[in-house]
Amino acid sequence: MANSSKKNHYDAIVIGVGSMGASACYHLAKQGHSVLGLEQFDITHELGSHAGQSRIIRKAYGEATVYVPLLQRAYENWAALEAETGSQVFFKTGMVYFGTANNPFLQTVKQSATQYDIPINQLSDQECTQKYPQFQLPNGFERLEEPDAGLLTPERCILLLVQQALYHGATIKTKEKVVRWEHHSGGVSVTTATTTYIAKKLIITAGAWARQVAPQLAQKLTITRQPLAWVQPKNWEAFDMKRFPCWLIRNNGRDFYGFPIVPAGQFGGPLGLKLGLHHPGGETTDPDTVDRTPRVEDEKALIEFLNEFLPEGYQSTLSMKVCMYTKTPDEHFVVDYLPEYGNDVVIATGFSGHGFKFVSVIGEVLADMASTGGSSFDLDFLSLRRFA
Ligand SMILES: Cc1cc2nc3c(=O)[nH]c(=O)nc-3n(C[C@H](O)[C@H](O)[C@H](O)COP(=O)(O)OP(=O)(O)OC[C@H]3O[C@@H](n4cnc5c(N)ncnc54)[C@H](O)[C@@H]3O)c2cc1C
Repeated sequence: MANSSKKNHYDAIVIGVGSMGASACYHLAKQGHSVLGLEQFDITHELGSHAGQSRIIRKAYGEATVYVPLLQRAYENWAALEAETGSQVFFKTGMVYFGTANNPFLQTVKQSATQYDIPINQLSDQECTQKYPQFQLPNGFERLEEPDAGLLTPERCILLLVQQALYHGATIKTKEKVVRWEHHSGGVSVTTATTTYIAKKLIITAGAWARQVAPQLAQKLTITRQPLAWVQPKNWEAFDMKRFPCWLIRNNGRDFYGFPIVPAGQFGGPLGLKLGLHHPGGETTDPDTVDRTPRVEDEKALIEFLNEFLPEGYQSTLSMKVCMYTKTPDEHFVVDYLPEYGNDVVIATGFSGHGFKFVSVIGEVLADMASTGGSSFDLDFLSLRRFA
């Protein structure tokens, strides 16, 4: 992809500068390509899927072992971003996984660890109670610990990626919604309310709006409403980042997850102990009409869970927010070319509530797919062909 220099002509246009789009802009610009990132809101904002202070990152992947090579690269790329900017985005808090013995997710965590030599510890009931007295778990629950897991700060990650994209020459336009795009011989034209832009390649990273930007995928994507809470525990100190890890508990077909309390001086708000329900997802919704007001029943489900599994974890609710997942039928991502357009249009969507940790590598993959026609990673399991 030779560098384009005519006004409003670019090597690549990225629709949606949220999580994945920020990283794609960064990698393309760093590789020397002219790139335009178009974002309908601001960098960053609370209306999509990336807001809320923290995201878990873990490597012994329970969703499928095949993600681990991408995760290894993601860890490297986050460290490279930290080195390049002198800012910390990854905080190694460790992570615990709890669930009934022979739970498929926990079994896959162990398989990933064995296959890729990732340190994990299987804790006895007694070891677990000594190390993590905050949890109250049923007898017979399996207790796993991944010491190298931790959390990322999503807003800071995106700001740094966009800052570095700009530094390397990217053009980023905010509050400019793409209303239409067309493929033609030699590239694409992308139209917003004010302007039409031309590029050789298009990357679609529109998150919960992907159904509108790529309607051919609408049947494969479901948007869900995901409430989350920050609460005041009975004992603040027991849940701070020095003493308490990230966690995931699988119980009776429901997966709750959460974070330690992060210091406001370093992370800003919201204040408190954060948690959410991952599975089953919330109600199906639409990004333009989603009910962003937290409901009594959203709060009740989280409090009941805390009272059962973290008895010191709940005193009062400090803050609640609503975020969105974009789910595929198998909850694996889509990273592929739209087949109608050869190698000219790349799409990354359907991150199904577990995509943020991959942002640093998905941007690199998208940049490579747009500029070289492929990626060095095995992405078959993320292809659109699997739905055929
Ligand atoms: C509550 C919650 C908790 C999560 N926890 C974790 C976790 O612990 N670990 C983890 O790895 N992942 C987690 N995730 C998932 C992760 O945050 C998402 O997978 C990821 O942020 C999705 O990135 P995205 O780029 O697809 O979407 P976004 O970051 O939302 O970006 C899409 C962007 O496209 C823009 N856009 C859309 N249409 C247009 C248009 N027409 N014109 C211009 N711009 C447009 C949007 O405004 C938006 O900025 C969580 C998600 C939620 C909601």
